[in-house]
Amino acid sequence: MRILVVEDDALLGDALQAGLKQAGYAVDWMKDGAAADHALGTETYAAAVLDLGLPRMSGLEVLRRLRSRKVPLPVLILTAMDSVDDRIKGLDAGADDYLVKPFDMGELAARLRALIRRASGKATAALQAGGVELEPAAHRVLYRGQAIDLPAKEFAVLHALMLNAGKVLSRAQIEEQLYAWGEEVESNAVEVHIHHLRRKLFPELIATIRGVGYLIPDDKNI
Ligand code: CA
Repeated sequence: MRILVVEDDALLGDALQAGLKQAGYAVDWMKDGAAADHALGTETYAAAVLDLGLPRMSGLEVLRRLRSRKVPLPVLILTAMDSVDDRIKGLDAGADDYLVKPFDMGELAARLRALIRRASGKATAALQAGGVELEPAAHRVLYRGQAIDLPAKEFAVLHALMLNAGKVLSRAQIEEQLYAWGEEVESNAVEVHIHHLRRKLFPELIATIRGVGYLIPDDKNI
């Protein structure tokens, strides 16, 4: 899962990037509104954390432009303690949730998980497909009642495929969830992760759709 963080405060941005990386996300950090607007127009994210007071373009303007393009990306805004007005404007402009500074990193991660889950149309916390159960919060995968230990990137590939069960994801779409902007993409990384997942779980879990991408069938269609 790839998250966009937009925050001009160096200390807070650094903490957000570190905290979200630790929670298993690939993180792009933009320090002004114009850069964020550009990133949102060109890259694919699972969610965005958006400060409102930003140089070059306000967070509200970034949000309005995003919504005018009909992008359904979940957005969590960060607002100052005393600015009820900002919160209302942010929610009116299309924010999905907000946190008041200073906030707890654990709460931010939990709210992002909830937003991403809701955006993908999955109401329950655990995802299930093909007898595999994945709990995003606990970073846990169960297969036939056994916990399967997966490295972060394999977990991220499985998470992306399970969130989109029944839909084909291209290699590029999976890569986008694994790497932050500017981070070097290892060649064949997706193929290697999928190979490992098939070996650790079971081969038929992930189907290869030649020339298109990969798919975990929706349980309803098995
Ligand atoms: Ca700010």
